[in-house]
Amino acid sequence: MSDPCILCVAITGSVPTKAANPAVPVTITEQIESTHEAFEAGASICHAHVRNDDETPSSDPEKFARLKEGLEKHCPGMIIQFSTGGRSGAGKARGGMLSLRPDMASLSVGSNNFPTRVYENPPDLVDWLASEMRAHEVVPEIEAFDTGHLWYAKQLVKDGVLDSPALVQLCMGVPWGAPDDLNTFMAMVNNVPDDWCFSGFGLGRNQMAYVAASVLAGGNVRVGLEDNLWLDKGVLAENWQLVERAGTIIENMGARVIGPAEVREKLGLQKRAPK
Ligand code: ZN
Repeated sequence: MSDPCILCVAITGSVPTKAANPAVPVTITEQIESTHEAFEAGASICHAHVRNDDETPSSDPEKFARLKEGLEKHCPGMIIQFSTGGRSGAGKARGGMLSLRPDMASLSVGSNNFPTRVYENPPDLVDWLASEMRAHEVVPEIEAFDTGHLWYAKQLVKDGVLDSPALVQLCMGVPWGAPDDLNTFMAMVNNVPDDWCFSGFGLGRNQMAYVAASVLAGGNVRVGLEDNLWLDKGVLAENWQLVERAGTIIENMGARVIGPAEVREKLGLQKRAPK
């Protein structure tokens, strides 16, 4: 079992809309408020995307800069993780915000089909994003959407593109990647090298079940409106409520949720002055 345990909140993503759940934070001000509530509820990492006012995904470094500034002010010590993922732009535009030096950034290392498009992460882009992260001292969180992505991540460590031990997020139940059954999850977990640190999440209605599954399997936890809009059947969630519920599950399992300072120590993140 994972004890102590890291709790990450994925506040927005690039898909959920206010029409689906009015609590989805879209503007930078809303994102800062929602993250602050989640921080108070026990989240120590904020995984963030930015959006345009019409809710379409953005990769605008200026928006990321305002978000980072607001989070540093209102959530002191919280670990800021920017998404370099998917829908926010093509190719290298996805890494344009790395020079802002967030603590961490997500790094998808494989391609797969999403329901209406291909999620493209070709090897040359992965190499480039990894080298930018290294240049700006941003710690990558590898996103594994399927078993082969983990295989490739280990090769990237062997090739010296990524440092070891690495951090990996096991993304379960994202159509059409790894399904969120326990056999597939444990196949992924068993392929994470012993000295790496992993977290796992389940998309949609299995979000809370995957809090328990990940902790039990020795991993950390991610919840939030990026991955799931519901607190209960028919009850829409806010980010802080998902964090609070996850914290309750973790603590009832006999594990402890750690704060930002301990997370920084565990993940080898330095607290540094912005450049
Ligand atoms: Zn994301």
